Amino acid sequence: MTGVLRMVILGRQGSGKGTQSGLVCEAFGCVHLSTGEMLRAAVSARSELGLQADSLMSAGELVGDDVVNGIVAERLARPDIARSGVLFDGYPRTAEQAAALKSMLDEAGQALTLAVNIDVSVADVTQRMLDRGRTDDTHEAIRRRLDLYDRQTAPLLDWFASHDLLETVDGTGSETEVFERLRSVIESRLR
Ligand code: AMP
Repeated sequence: MTGVLRMVILGRQGSGKGTQSGLVCEAFGCVHLSTGEMLRAAVSARSELGLQADSLMSAGELVGDDVVNGIVAERLARPDIARSGVLFDGYPRTAEQAAALKSMLDEAGQALTLAVNIDVSVADVTQRMLDRGRTDDTHEAIRRRLDLYDRQTAPLLDWFASHDLLETVDGTGSETEVFERLRSVIESRLR
């Protein structure tokens, strides 16, 4: 196999995206770059960025494109990603972010390998979230978060498809079954 993996992972809340991201980075040795985690770290550290992001995040709103593109650019500048590859989790969230990511990578002489959508139906993820029984997982709250995700993500799926980067992986079944499907699409793109 040739090349370094640079991928984006997409999937509804409850799709198993977080678990699969961990498995992919373990298997392919890439850096797991989660903008949600970076922003939460900034909030905990009470940095200026964290203070800006805090209220938006608590309200479930998106943090501004410029802010998020800025933290990604800073992280991409560290040498480990060029060497080991990267899995973007929770980024890009808008078509503007996708375009910014493409130009950052172009400038660094790098290219995305693929974007994978872990596909689990609304009915199935709703059931998974209800089964885990968290207090913020009421029917209404789940529906609101899934609606928002679909509205934000649909244009991104189109963007990746138009750049011939999109693969869809069936996210139903065991963790291992899903991971083997994922591994197979990644390996064929890396060839
Ligand atoms: P996550 O852990 O990916 O669900 O992100 C948690 C929160 O951080 C989101 O609800 C947003 O407020 C913010 N966030 C994370 N990633 C992004 C992004 N790429 N663009 C805008 N806001 C983001």
